[in-house]
Amino acid sequence: KDTLLDIRNLKTYYPVKGGFLKRTVGHVKAVDNISFEIKKGETLGLVGESGCGKSTTGRTILRLLKPTEGQIIFDGKDITNITGAELRKARRDFQMVFQDPYASLNPTQSVGSIISEPIRNFEKRNKEELKEEVLELLSRVGLPPEAYDKYGHEFSGGQRQRIGIARALALKPKLIIADEPVSALDVSVQSQVLNLLKELQGEFDLTYLFIAHDLSVVKHMSDRIGVMYLGNMVEIASNESLYAEPLHPYTQALISAIPEADPKKKKERIVLQGDVPSPQNPPTGCAFHTRCPMAKEECSKVKPVLKEVKPGHQVACILY
Ligand code: SF4
Ligand code: MG
Repeated sequence: KDTLLDIRNLKTYYPVKGGFLKRTVGHVKAVDNISFEIKKGETLGLVGESGCGKSTTGRTILRLLKPTEGQIIFDGKDITNITGAELRKARRDFQMVFQDPYASLNPTQSVGSIISEPIRNFEKRNKEELKEEVLELLSRVGLPPEAYDKYGHEFSGGQRQRIGIARALALKPKLIIADEPVSALDVSVQSQVLNLLKELQGEFDLTYLFIAHDLSVVKHMSDRIGVMYLGNMVEIASNESLYAEPLHPYTQALISAIPEADPKKKKERIVLQGDVPSPQNPPTGCAFHTRCPMAKEECSKVKPVLKEVKPGHQVACILY
């Protein structure tokens, strides 16, 4: 399969201002040199605790944030530094579904206007054509035509997320970055929204970058999964390989935290000590060494790089 997205050595640093003159006194290394690919039609899950850089990665790919270094190749084109009309044109092809469907819909706009906005921004359509397209999108995401004239606050969280998804689909994008799309929803509606995203992937030929803090959510969605810790990619593998044989001690801890109904499969939970250190002042060597149950002395000195240790399974840890 062809590659849709190729991320090479991406860094996104935020300046930290301080002192009387508000000068830059340091940097938060939100994303610190990560590389990965997503093939056409594939779903890559991106997982890690809050503050690990997964949302920043998504926003940098969409060019909502400026990358500090590295390259973003989208559908064969380097979009790292494009601006103006060129960036606007490229943005047709990638859309975002946000975490909080309560905050992401404009309360003064009708649903019809919210969903049609991207089309109105990019294309000329008469009113009837536009309405027809919106009604079609509403039906694809499982909402009734009456939704057209209503406002966001008249809907439940799950329905609002469907509206957000319809809007993201309006321009028939190639890539959708879904940033924790179900974490604000009740557990009972989470799987409905996940199933919808899966169905739409086939219908609309979509590629997904699916961001989550929880390995149990990405399990049912992803072909491959990347695990991030403090701005670093620590492991990438196929779904099967990652759950069957997690290699990185951090991934092992995340997997051990997934609730397991079958007591025979239940493994002992690995509880990590301490909090995630500040990305402004990350630990030297392996960024995980302050919490790693397997850490050796050299872990604080040598920064491990991502290596392929089995076909398609990469890990950044000196144990391999
Ligand atoms: Fe743990 Fe060392 Fe591996 Fe880092 S490099 S994950 S500290 S064993
Ligand atoms: Mg986030």
